[in-house]
Order: sequence, then C-alpha cells, then structure tokens
Amino acid sequence: MKRAYKNGLHFIGEWHTHPQADPTPSPRDLLSMNDLFVKSCHELNFFVMIIVGNRMPELSLWISLHDASSVHLLKKLLWVPEIT
Ligand SMILES: [Zn+2]
Repeated sequence: MKRAYKNGLHFIGEWHTHPQADPTPSPRDLLSMNDLFVKSCHELNFFVMIIVGNRMPELSLWISLHDASSVHLLKKLLWVPEIT
C-alpha cells in the first residue's frame, strides 16, 4: 500500500453494495473505515464510503465521510429514473 501511495495511487475511500433497499453501514463497515483511516498512508481529513442499495429501478446510495473515530453522513440519495 505504501508503494502505491508513493507512485501516486492514493486511497480515498471505498464503495460496496448491500442487499438493502435503503442502505446503511454495518458495524463492521464503520470499524473498517476507522481502521483504514488510521493504518493508511494519506494526508486526508476523511475517507469516503459509498454504499449502493439494491432498490430497483431506483438507485439508492449512502455517502459518508470517516476519520479515525467518527462518521459524518453526507447524503442518503434516492435517484428515480424518468421512464419515457
Ligand atoms: Zn457494508
């Protein structure tokens, strides 16, 4: 991971899916983001986590910022496509 950082590949966060229509982070997600923030090479104030729900055909997202000990919800988004 340090070699990637030195080569300009900076980890800024992660995304994954949840089998939920309205996704929220699991306790494991929260601990993992705090742990990644502490153990990664970076100069950031926060990492980003995006969770994609399984609501169809809408797109439901959880978007949050994480540091060593806290989580800040940025947005819960539900995008409904226009059907023409
Ligand atoms: Zn998760």
